[in-house]
Amino acid sequence: MRQTRRKKRKKIVLTAVGVAVLAISLAAAATSYLWEDSVTVSKSPADVLTPEITKPLVESDSFIDIRLAAAGDIMFHNAQLKSGYDAKTDTYNFKSVFDGVKPIISAADLAIANFETTTNGSDPHKFTGYPRFNSPDEVIDAIQYAGFDVMSTANNHSLDMGRQGIIRTVQKIQKSGMDTVGTYEKRPETRVLMKNVKGIKLAFMSYTESTNGLEGTLSPDELDAMINIVDEQKMKEDIQYSKKQGADAIIAFLHWGNEYERTPSRKQEQLAKLLVSEGVDIILGSHPHVIQKSEHLTSGGSRGFVVYSMGNFISNQRYETLENEYTEDGVIINFDIQKNKKTNETIIKNIEYVPTWVYRNMENGQQTYTYQILPILNYMDSKHISMEFKARMQRSYKDTITRLDAGKTAS
Ligand SMILES: [Zn+2]
Repeated sequence: MRQTRRKKRKKIVLTAVGVAVLAISLAAAATSYLWEDSVTVSKSPADVLTPEITKPLVESDSFIDIRLAAAGDIMFHNAQLKSGYDAKTDTYNFKSVFDGVKPIISAADLAIANFETTTNGSDPHKFTGYPRFNSPDEVIDAIQYAGFDVMSTANNHSLDMGRQGIIRTVQKIQKSGMDTVGTYEKRPETRVLMKNVKGIKLAFMSYTESTNGLEGTLSPDELDAMINIVDEQKMKEDIQYSKKQGADAIIAFLHWGNEYERTPSRKQEQLAKLLVSEGVDIILGSHPHVIQKSEHLTSGGSRGFVVYSMGNFISNQRYETLENEYTEDGVIINFDIQKNKKTNETIIKNIEYVPTWVYRNMENGQQTYTYQILPILNYMDSKHISMEFKARMQRSYKDTITRLDAGKTAS
């Protein structure tokens, strides 16, 4: 039976390639940037090296190559809501926030991040930031514009607008053309999101450690059905389901750990080991709002990659608001995944970090802040950024790379 063969699917192999720290300049000519001069166009190795004709053409037909991009927390605090509002037209628009990262996110075959707010509409509610997030639907337009394909929606703010908030948020994201994983309108047939990307089957699961004590807004049955709260049994079931579906790679998005702690908790490390031993290949962490380390894990005979926290992709958390500069730091992680069609083996060929920094400035004559997510290396030469901000970007870049690499020395 095919079933038995599938059970013995080739485990994804994590090649021991180092994590390449590269500034990628995916500056497509057609892309319009907020700051045109800031895009550095560097040659990729492929342009520089003379290609050797050593392999027959048919060889490339045996492989499928895809790129998966992941980012951390996407949040919209009150100051951001103000900045996206146009009083003249009474409309919101957040697209420009993502202009700097759009070329990188769009270049991936599949991009995923954590949607840490709700979109429950403005009637009868109001749009609000912390502590109960309810954002205009235009935030979804902006995220989709940036090039994201999947939103992980299980987090401690999923229940901020109660049952209706979960339902409307999922509906609006899906209507935009993106997929959701982690929260559901009603009990789903499966909690796993399967995506076939050019012939590589990716299984996504998403879980949160906490819902900020708002569990009571759902009945016990709804809570069980509509939001994935960390539960080892459920997670094991999801992994088994993914394997049965013939997943080439299993990716778990985890909302976990302690806020503002730059080191993963014991609980995070234990859960990561368990998930890897059960068959998860990539664990993408978020919630601490600061970067935590990444590492290759071996557990129960399986190998996996974990990044414990990818920091804030966009938020109003920063030195000026929290006296915590690390909350300004984020990262896009690019995973180059390759499947050998002959052997059915799937490997992660390369992992690349693109550190990002949240720019916030009240520019000349403005009444509100301008927010931009900047891939740091692409903007270090920009004429439009002050020396003070460049120093902050330099600090951010160094801290992010050092933090992410901290796992390299661990076992
Ligand atoms: Zn959170």
